Amino acid sequence: MMNDVIVAISTASLNAAISIVRMSGKGSKEIVEQIFVSKTKLESRRMTYGFIADHRTNQKIDEVMAVYLPAPGTYTREDVVEINCHGGQVSAQRILELIVGLGARIAERGEFTLRAFLNGRIDLAQAESVVDLVKAKTVKAFDCSLNQLGGAMSVRVKHILTQLIDLIADITVSIDYPEEDIEEVSLDRIRTGIGLVIREIEALLKNAEHSRLIRDGAKVAIVGKPNVGKSSLMNLLLGEVRVIVTDVPGTTRDTIEEVISIEGYPVRLIDTAGIRETEDFVEKIGIEKTKIAANSADIILLILDASRDLDEDDFSLLEHFSDRNLLIVANKSDLPSAWEVSVLPEQLRGNVLLTAVKNGGDRAVQNILARIAALLKRGIDSDDVLVNARHQQILNRSREVLENALHLQEYDLVEVDLRDVVALLGEITGDRVRDDILNAVFSKFCLGK
Ligand code: GDP
Repeated sequence: MMNDVIVAISTASLNAAISIVRMSGKGSKEIVEQIFVSKTKLESRRMTYGFIADHRTNQKIDEVMAVYLPAPGTYTREDVVEINCHGGQVSAQRILELIVGLGARIAERGEFTLRAFLNGRIDLAQAESVVDLVKAKTVKAFDCSLNQLGGAMSVRVKHILTQLIDLIADITVSIDYPEEDIEEVSLDRIRTGIGLVIREIEALLKNAEHSRLIRDGAKVAIVGKPNVGKSSLMNLLLGEVRVIVTDVPGTTRDTIEEVISIEGYPVRLIDTAGIRETEDFVEKIGIEKTKIAANSADIILLILDASRDLDEDDFSLLEHFSDRNLLIVANKSDLPSAWEVSVLPEQLRGNVLLTAVKNGGDRAVQNILARIAALLKRGIDSDDVLVNARHQQILNRSREVLENALHLQEYDLVEVDLRDVVALLGEITGDRVRDDILNAVFSKFCLGK
């Protein structure tokens, strides 16, 4: 597999100005030379103007710019050729077919990056960040992924591994050379070391939730009884922040859900008031329906009408969401107020923001956005490390094994556990990794990456 020349169209198949056909592997240059017609020969690292022509008929296929990048200074560490041709549906496809006819194979998803990994240019955590880069919806998500590509996660894992290996060395000395004049390392000291490692793993695990929010975005649901001002607030918030236009072809923008960027976090803002319209309810949306709609949200924005007495429905919503990330907005503060914050359950009083959406929300909108951002950032260790679900699983398992090791009384049993964790953590960076894991990781890539 690794000896094949692989080829793919690396650009999106939309009507763009340029498409790029990319090849990698020994023999790429020789294949291209059979179909590249130019006054200038393909030279290393020089973009060259010419034509692609069918080698059997000499028929011109397209006018192109081509570049040959010799190994090892390339994305894959192999010989790479890139052909920039005209965009659209036809040209790149014809060039691709010609190249396949000359012996190249169409690349699997992520295979270019897989080769970069297998050839040792990047480790597995870095390779995974390439998917995140491509899929990033905000600048912040992109920057974090770029950090990861630079090795942010790998550095942390390697630091943990070094400590584990030191501990294993200490144990080995104690077991193998008990009579030597080497100071025996007490189990207590080993346990202290293990405790430190557990803490580092926990710090990374804290980032898992935060990474999900950066990568996939947070869901913020606006809930409340009919007429409290949900839709008005939604519109006001949309007016304040950058709305991210989802660029998936063929999807229409949802009227009740918009993706916005709050301090670089992609946030799906959901107006539960809109649900009744889209779902064709004759009645206004019921309180129970609201609860269900908001149940999977990361943050609840509960709107109350400050000018009317709170009723059963308001309290029912307050109670239902009381143990969630809850922000309470007391709206219509331009009207005489009907209740005081003291009527709310004590633990929720600090979460209340008073506003009059009708008057443009004054500073309240900024406050709401700042409070949402604060909730998103809560408890993070450092936001440059992205912990994905695969890493999280490995870290959780490692923590369990280490916690078990804390209770063992025999050096050699502790050592077995420590070695297990070294092997486990090696799966994050890909030092030791099974084929099925590799397949799972690289199947998430887009074609041509
Ligand atoms: P929803 O049913 O919760 O989405 O509520 P809407 O956003 O449709 O608002 C219901 C009514 O309350 C509309 O007539 C709004 O103009 C009005 N409203 C919204 N916010 C305010 C406010 O801050 N002050 C006053 N006086 N009226 C408001």
